[in-house]
Amino acid sequence: MKILKTIEEVRAQVKAWRKENLTVGLVPTMGYLHEGHQSLILKSVEQNDRTVVSIFVNPMQFGPAEDLESYPRDLQADAELCEKAGADVIFHPEPEEMYRPGFCSYVNMTGLPDALCGLTRPVHFKGVCTVVNKLFHIVTPDRAYFGEKDAQQLAIIRRMVMDLNMDIEIVGCPIVREADGLAKSSRNIYLTKEERQAAVVLSRAVTFGKHKIEEGCRDAKEIVEAMKALIAAEPLADIEYVEMVNMDTMQPIDKVQGTVLCAMAVRFGKARLIDNFICQL
Ligand code: AMP
Repeated sequence: MKILKTIEEVRAQVKAWRKENLTVGLVPTMGYLHEGHQSLILKSVEQNDRTVVSIFVNPMQFGPAEDLESYPRDLQADAELCEKAGADVIFHPEPEEMYRPGFCSYVNMTGLPDALCGLTRPVHFKGVCTVVNKLFHIVTPDRAYFGEKDAQQLAIIRRMVMDLNMDIEIVGCPIVREADGLAKSSRNIYLTKEERQAAVVLSRAVTFGKHKIEEGCRDAKEIVEAMKALIAAEPLADIEYVEMVNMDTMQPIDKVQGTVLCAMAVRFGKARLIDNFICQL
């Protein structure tokens, strides 16, 4: 497995693969990899001849008060995980490689980013769309892999690929969880012991919400309020939002029907954690 730091090197590698008619999968990440990322890499290795994992803490998707500086990094451990999972290349550029002086071209989607996480993270999805677009042009993958953990991001990337006629298959992968249910996240490292225990309330709320729908409840407000009450009973949890939206439009719904995303963002001390479930009726 190679670790490449420049766009030119990645382009040369992909060109060589293309000469051999090999297919290429891309797994975009910010590093500090765990079993969630690993599941995306394994899926790509299964479906493509070659797999590129990008590891780039993208400054453009962080707001001024967010955790860009403190975001955890461990390239050596990441390289071991990638190699074990069967990746062929890690693309690990410096910010200066991705954003040359004078950079001023952005992918600025309207609508889908103006909901859920986009409301408190106004620059986030512009940064995500721009960097993913750049990665798509650099790697030119046949398929790209994204986790349902970031369900709004997945919906936005699918929309961008459709709107801008990109010839790339977007593959969504299920949320990987810890044994007690907490969704795996690089940001779980920010949790104190007490907060880590308290954070289990998120997956409990997910299970509870799913259960209410299975029982026949179709009233989105009733489900959301019940989930909020469950989370609010945990003193260390500070709810940013719990919402049910249409999966394609990110617009709030009254009645549970079609493909629905029930998503939440909740703070525990320094950590802002997200979780969700998608339900198809
Ligand atoms: P990140 O490094 O946090 O930007 O995540 C990179 C990719 O891994 C994104 O597509 C995430 O949705 C996905 N991912 C992160 N955590 C998980 C998880 N627990 N289960 C599945 N996918 C995940």
